[in-house]
Amino acid sequence: MTDAAVKHESDIDVDTIGRIPRPLSLFIIALAIAASLIAVFWISQQLSITGELRRSADRMSLYRSTLVSALEEHQHLPFILSWDPLVIDAALGADPSQLNARLDSFADEASIDAIYLMDRSGLTIAASNWDEPRTFVGNNYGFRPYFKQALSGQRGTFFAIGATTQEPGFFIAEPIHGPSGNIIGVIALKVDLTSLTRAWREGGETLLAVDQRGIVILASNPDWTYKTLLPLTAQARAEIEAERQFGSEPLTPLDFSGENEFRARVDGLRYIQTVRDVGHLGWKLHYLAPLNRVNAQAWLWVVVAAALLLMVSVGMLLARSRRIRSALFASQAERRGLQVINRKLADEIEERKAAERRLEKAQKELQQVSKLAALGQLSASVTHELGQPIAAMRNYLAAADLPGNTINGDARELVTHLNGITARMEHITRQLRFFAHREAENLVTFDLRDAVQSAITMMRADLDVRSIDLSVTTPQHPVQVHGDAFRIEQVLVNLIRNATDAVAQVSQPRISIDLGQDGDEAYIRVLDNGDGLSADAQTMAAEPFFSTKPSGSGMGLGLAISAAILKDHDGKIGFSNNADRGACFVMTLPLASLSQ
Ligand code: ADP
Repeated sequence: MTDAAVKHESDIDVDTIGRIPRPLSLFIIALAIAASLIAVFWISQQLSITGELRRSADRMSLYRSTLVSALEEHQHLPFILSWDPLVIDAALGADPSQLNARLDSFADEASIDAIYLMDRSGLTIAASNWDEPRTFVGNNYGFRPYFKQALSGQRGTFFAIGATTQEPGFFIAEPIHGPSGNIIGVIALKVDLTSLTRAWREGGETLLAVDQRGIVILASNPDWTYKTLLPLTAQARAEIEAERQFGSEPLTPLDFSGENEFRARVDGLRYIQTVRDVGHLGWKLHYLAPLNRVNAQAWLWVVVAAALLLMVSVGMLLARSRRIRSALFASQAERRGLQVINRKLADEIEERKAAERRLEKAQKELQQVSKLAALGQLSASVTHELGQPIAAMRNYLAAADLPGNTINGDARELVTHLNGITARMEHITRQLRFFAHREAENLVTFDLRDAVQSAITMMRADLDVRSIDLSVTTPQHPVQVHGDAFRIEQVLVNLIRNATDAVAQVSQPRISIDLGQDGDEAYIRVLDNGDGLSADAQTMAAEPFFSTKPSGSGMGLGLAISAAILKDHDGKIGFSNNADRGACFVMTLPLASLSQ
């Protein structure tokens, strides 16, 4: 039952608390978390890239249109100016001073870097910056492609670093036709585009404009300007040289790789790129969005997801620990219940054992009682049967021993011998009478002082013969008990006889009888100064047939029967040796007032 209880208890633990995660499960959970975080990163990165591309497209349209409008804003101005009489006159050789002033005011008005007039050889004859130290006047730009294009009758456009100012700009040129329709010169203007790149930079954007040869002509990062995205052919390099397009710039390659249509790496940094053509010039505008911005967003989502996961995990852990706690409480309560049941069970087992012990004792006692009862019956019949012949024998012997009888010698000796045998037989029958069980008990309330006196009276002769010093202590008041007075006297007589036997060899034999009461019990102590109880007798004196006396003197039944009589009266007998010498026997009985 206890085992079953324990098993049941352990079952509760397993069922209600659940399995404890093992390292493998923890590893799988960690793997799943890592995989989901990677998935979150990837998905959010893809979403960010898509968003960034959309944003890039919007930004690209804006920057492309500003660039195009910057390039085209003034494209018609040279054409208009080519029809200006002042321009034509100056081209024909008139004094350019008035034109200089007009070009100056036009340039100011339109925020144009420079407007200038060249003759057919490319020599500048009038310019808006005529009065500035680095004026174009007097310089020959016949080598510039825009001049050549204009001279051939077309509009010329060109991006270049200024040969005079060393500042980049976009050149637009138109031919000037003379009165006869022939080309008499070229009017050109230079638009400064650096404000554009400044705006890009200040807007925190990354852009670069690349010409048809792959040379960066405008860039938000000044370090990238005049670097090449594609390797330059020797011919292209020679042309650039001849046109002096980029002055003394070495045109080194930019650390650029267009990984695919949408990805690029510049100076080791990765970008999402959007590329668009710019007008008819063959230029391309690259809008670059740093990938780390996208990654930062993706990481942000990872952190958010991780935080959510953490919160969910903490929530689950809390729920789990709550579940475990309640399961523990339940199991503890159940364990307590089981403990109570176990305790009760143990008590019951103990009680049962005690009952078994009592039963065993009762059975032994029953055996003893039945033995004693049988012995009592036997004793009664033997006493009865032998009583008459022994009495007759005694009478015959007494008659033979009368003084008038003439028996002498051997016959007298025989009579004396037979007298001794008869006395011994009487002694034995007297003992047997003590064992005889009385059929009908006469239960009365009597004073133990009387019982003590009558027992002493019965034993008086023996005590006197052996010169035993007897001291009796009894209280002044009666000590009433209820029971069979005769049998209680029998017990007392037996104790006194045993004491008498015990002091037989003592030089100053002494017996004391002490009657008293203690609480609701009466007691009678019989002490002697004999040799005391032997080691065996200390434990077995009250066992039937235990005797240390010689055969014929003792049958070993006196104390057993005394104990049985006292038990019948709800009393008991105890014995031990005295501290100095001799034995002490104590019989106790319940006082009548309480037992009735
Ligand atoms: P019996 O007297 O026939 O031997 P009992 O039952 O009366 O039988 O006594 C049993 C034994 O107890 C005795 O043989 C003796 O050894 C011991 N005994 C009893 N009374 C005394 C005593 N007063 N002093 C010493 N031993 C005693």
